[in-house]
Parts: sequence; structure tokens; C-alpha cells
Amino acid sequence: MNEWQPSSWRSKTALQQPIYADPQELDAVVDELSTRPPLVTSWEVERLKTQLASAARGDAFLLQGGDCSESFDACRADPIEKKLKVLLQMSLVLVYGMRKPVIRVGRIAGQYAKPRSSDLETRDGVELPSYRGDCVNRSPFTAQDRCPQPANLIGAFDRSAQTLNYLRALTEGGFADIKHPENWELDFVTQSSRSGQYHQMVRGISDSLDLLGVIGGVSRSDLSRVDFYTSHEALLLPYEQALTRRAIARDGWYNLGTHYPWIGDRTRQIDGAHVEYCRGIRNPIGVKVGPSTTADGLIELLDVLNPSREAGRMTLICRFGASKIAGCLPALIDAVVASKHPVLWSVDPMHGNTITTDQGIKTRHFDQILDEVRQAFAIHAEQGTVVGGIHLELTGNEVTECIGGSGGLGSGDLVRAYESSVDPRLNYEQAMEIAFLIAGQARE
Ligand code: PEP
Ligand code: MN
Repeated sequence: MNEWQPSSWRSKTALQQPIYADPQELDAVVDELSTRPPLVTSWEVERLKTQLASAARGDAFLLQGGDCSESFDACRADPIEKKLKVLLQMSLVLVYGMRKPVIRVGRIAGQYAKPRSSDLETRDGVELPSYRGDCVNRSPFTAQDRCPQPANLIGAFDRSAQTLNYLRALTEGGFADIKHPENWELDFVTQSSRSGQYHQMVRGISDSLDLLGVIGGVSRSDLSRVDFYTSHEALLLPYEQALTRRAIARDGWYNLGTHYPWIGDRTRQIDGAHVEYCRGIRNPIGVKVGPSTTADGLIELLDVLNPSREAGRMTLICRFGASKIAGCLPALIDAVVASKHPVLWSVDPMHGNTITTDQGIKTRHFDQILDEVRQAFAIHAEQGTVVGGIHLELTGNEVTECIGGSGGLGSGDLVRAYESSVDPRLNYEQAMEIAFLIAGQARE
């Protein structure tokens, strides 16, 4: 076999790629992106991998969340701050409940590409290319908007850089200081039925930190910043290739456009281009695992993606659906345990629970999301393995995209504040409730 290169995937079948009118324009964009400075460093990537190895062993917990797909329009201060806030607050609740470090990862600063079930969409007899995320085309149903434009890849890179720049400033510069709980509060936690429990947790954590400072010599500045990592689906391979760089000191290739790429449920074919691409980079890799995953297929995939069985390298992001998890997960756990592959088991309770209402709106029911999370914990406990993380689609804004939760959203509320042009996200309160549930379960 020839030596792996960032472009090796081109000899394989790449599903879910847009068809550009002018391939040379795409090549020019890839050349330009290849000259840009990277967004992250190999040191950060390696540090994350070490932390994920710890989560795989049950000594830490991965919280991964964000939009199904970021939009160019949402590259503004307010949505970024709100997304960071909800993830920080969830992590606070999880740390307190689980008594473990929480690894915070956003689906952010690069999550601009979407797999679609069909290349084309038909409305009233008109057929246009499907919307594939803002880095490809635009969502309005016009021929001009739906035409894939290579220049959008530059737009996606620039917005990823701006988003990450602001996230770094926020997480390093005191926004995340636990001694300033006002930065950790969003308005409607005070309206939630859980607000008393939440405030008690914040006080408990703050007191513990003060105590640490007194007896452990830990300075406040150590506690005023948090680690925050980025992730996105490694879907559009020309873009991922352009951000793949050789780290000379480490003698290896890294995707430096994100810390933590994942392979989607639709592109994890063993002989496909996405697996070929991910096999050659040294980042930690997530793989979405769904009802169609077989035990043999999964082990084959792990053998290809992690032949050296490096700890922290592989995360299995399981997304079966509440009605299917019990029938699917146990056999996969058995196979992975028997293979002795070190993996981090994460739960994505979103993607197997998507439904369409009678009005044709895509939504998810909060109870089914919770149900899948609960079942995942129970199944792993039974099998003697650990749930090392959770993967959610959420936003810090007060959207009405998922049904249920203590706010009591019904299907009639969906039209009120439905902003996603792809999958429905948990709003702030629904996301916090999931965190409370996991934290509470861990303390039982
Ligand atoms: C996603 O994470 O938005 C997604 C498309 O998931 P999956 O590949 O699991 O369907
Ligand atoms: Mn999604």
C-alpha cells in the first residue's frame, strides 16, 4: 500500500460530496486554504486525546454539544456566548454530580457541512440540489441559493477562525471564572423548577474551590480558565484535506482545522473515502454508530482506524433511538470488549429519535431523548462498561425545536421559535435538564 497522504481519500468513493459546476474553482480554493495558518495545534489535539483516554476508563466525562449545523449568520457574539454558557453550566452540573473532570467539546467553529438523504429536493415539481450546510450552499429554495459555491469553504474557514478566536478569549479571559457566577447564569434558569437545586450546586462548587485555594495552594488564576475543544463532522473532504498539516516534531499528520473530527453514520463505509482520510490523521476520531452497524463491521472499522489500539483515539458515538438501543447496543459492547479495543462510549440520544410532525416539522421528543440516555447508562452498567460521554444538539437560545421538557413545549409551539434549517436542537432549559438528570443518576 502506498504511503498515506492527505489526498489519499481521492482514490476511494466519497459519499455526500456536492457537485461543483467548476472543479478548478474548487481546486483553487483548496490551494488557498492550504496556505492559511491552522486553527488548532497538535499539542492541543494530543492533550484532548489524553483526556479522552481518561474518559474511556471512566475517570472523566465527555460533554459534546452544539448546533446540528452552524450557520454563517450565527457567527456573532451573542449566539457564541450563549452556546458557551450553556455548555459551561452543563459541565458544572456534571462535575458536581459525577465527581469527575468534564471534557468540554463544542460542535462548533467548523460544523458547517451536512449529510443529506437525497442529492436533490423537489418542491411543487421543481427540483434543486439539497441544502448541504452553509459551507456548500444556502438553505432558501432558489436555484441561485442551492448552487454549491467553492468560495463558501473560505467563508466557513474564516467564520471558524473568528468563532474560535472569540471562544479562546472567553475561556481564557475570565468569562469562565467560577467566582463570577453571573457569567454562568442565563435568565430563565431562575424560572426553572430546578433553579433551587442549580443555585445550591453553584454554591457548593464555589465553596469547594475556596477550600482548595486555602488548603491546596491552588491559585484563583488556575480556576479562571477552562479547556474548551472544537469538533465537527469530517464530511467535506477537500476542506479537511486543506486543513491537514504535518507536525514535524511529531512526525505525523493532523487535521488542524478542528481538535476532534467525527465520521457520520452515512459515511463510515470501511472502504470509503471518509474512513481512508481519517485513518491517516492523528487526531482523536469519533464514529457515529447506528442501528445498521454490525459487530463485525465495527471491529473491522476499529482495526483500520486504530490499528495500534492507542487509548483516547476512538470514540463510538451511539445513536440508535430509544426504541432500538436495547436491541443494538449490547452485542456491540460484547464485540468491542472481546476485541480489547480501547474505546470511549458516548451517547447521542438525538439522531435516532427524530420524528416529523403532521405539519411536516422535524422534531424530537424530550422524553425519548431522556429515555435513550437512561437506557444507555443501564445497559453499560449491566455489561460492566462505562458511558464516557454524551453528544447533544443544543443551543443557548430559547428556541422551540424539540417537544417536551419541564417547559412543557408541545407540537403547537414548534412554529414559534424554530430556527434550525437542519435538525432540531434542545433549548437552554432542556439541555440543562439533561445535565441534571445525568448528574442526579451518577449520585444515586
Ligand atoms: C449529525 O450529527 O448531525 C448527524 C448527521 O448525525 P448522524 O451521522 O449520526 O446521522
Ligand atoms: Mn444533526
